[in-house]
Amino acid sequence: MNTTNGQATARTCCICGAPLPKFGGCNPEPAYIGEEWEQCCDACNFHIVMPAREYIAKLTETRLAASRALRG
Ligand SMILES: [Zn+2]
Repeated sequence: MNTTNGQATARTCCICGAPLPKFGGCNPEPAYIGEEWEQCCDACNFHIVMPAREYIAKLTETRLAASRALRG
């Protein structure tokens, strides 16, 4: 990271390092858990963060269904 305190000079995507627009950037969680101010670019959001969210949602669903089945 080229930042010292979050008041970055040039902001970059925390996943791929691409420069971010001055205003914009996406919340990278849960694909990337970093500092609060860190953001990712649209491409990473689309290709990495969104699939990660779907994956976790699906896992959670499966686990819930399994525990419901066990309880009967
Ligand atoms: Zn990126």
